[in-house]
Amino acid sequence: MSNTNQANKRKSMSKKVRFEVFKRDSFICQYCGQSAPDVVLHVDHINPVSKGGGNDIMNLVTSCQACNSGKSDRLLTDSAAIDKQKAQLDELNEKRQQLEMMIEWRETLKDFDGGAAQRIATYFEGQCDCDITINESGLKNIQKWMKKFSYAEILEAIDCAVDVYIKSYTMDEASNAFSKVPRICATRKKEKETGVNERHLYYIRGILKNRFSYCNDRAAIEILREADSLGIDEQDLKDIAIESRNWTEWQMTMHQAMEE
Ligand SMILES: [Zn+2]
Repeated sequence: MSNTNQANKRKSMSKKVRFEVFKRDSFICQYCGQSAPDVVLHVDHINPVSKGGGNDIMNLVTSCQACNSGKSDRLLTDSAAIDKQKAQLDELNEKRQQLEMMIEWRETLKDFDGGAAQRIATYFEGQCDCDITINESGLKNIQKWMKKFSYAEILEAIDCAVDVYIKSYTMDEASNAFSKVPRICATRKKEKETGVNERHLYYIRGILKNRFSYCNDRAAIEILREADSLGIDEQDLKDIAIESRNWTEWQMTMHQAMEE
């Protein structure tokens, strides 16, 4: 930081710092107790700038216009009383903030138990494009997933499950896809955690993309991941990719290989 910046910082106080001081003091003048909007509030230095006081939040206090101008540049004589009052206010504010945080946290939990799971279910139903409705036990399953995986991870896994397991939009396919979601979440998470190198899988997918007029990218990588996790040899994966004539044949051969 340059000297000019430091000099400026000393003179002007950022909006953020002012807001923090006002919030801490509940928008109340700490000298006379009047509050906004009855009075115009300022941020006052407890130890004046001319006597070496800085813009540290602990040296700042909310003051109304009248108290601020009356105080001028003199040092507070009864700073101990002010400090004590400030400490009490800080404690009250802390309590209030914690209460707010607790309320927010409870609402999140409530949402976690109901709303969010329902939203995920609705998303899944929409993606399936059939008449499937996630029932109570399905919702309970989603709530279980939510204890282990993030909202985003679950939605991503749903996209993937739909791509891979839904072909003719039947209810059976949809419920099968639904049952695959937690496994896909777990696989993805594990990959992220262990940083598994998937370059060889992407290479094989590249073969498919070059050879077939149609290739579902996301489904391809998911099938390759599944095969890889089942321990199918990389060379075998390559051979299947090279020997298959089209996307459908490749998928069938891969599923057969995985069943063996
Ligand atoms: Zn005042």
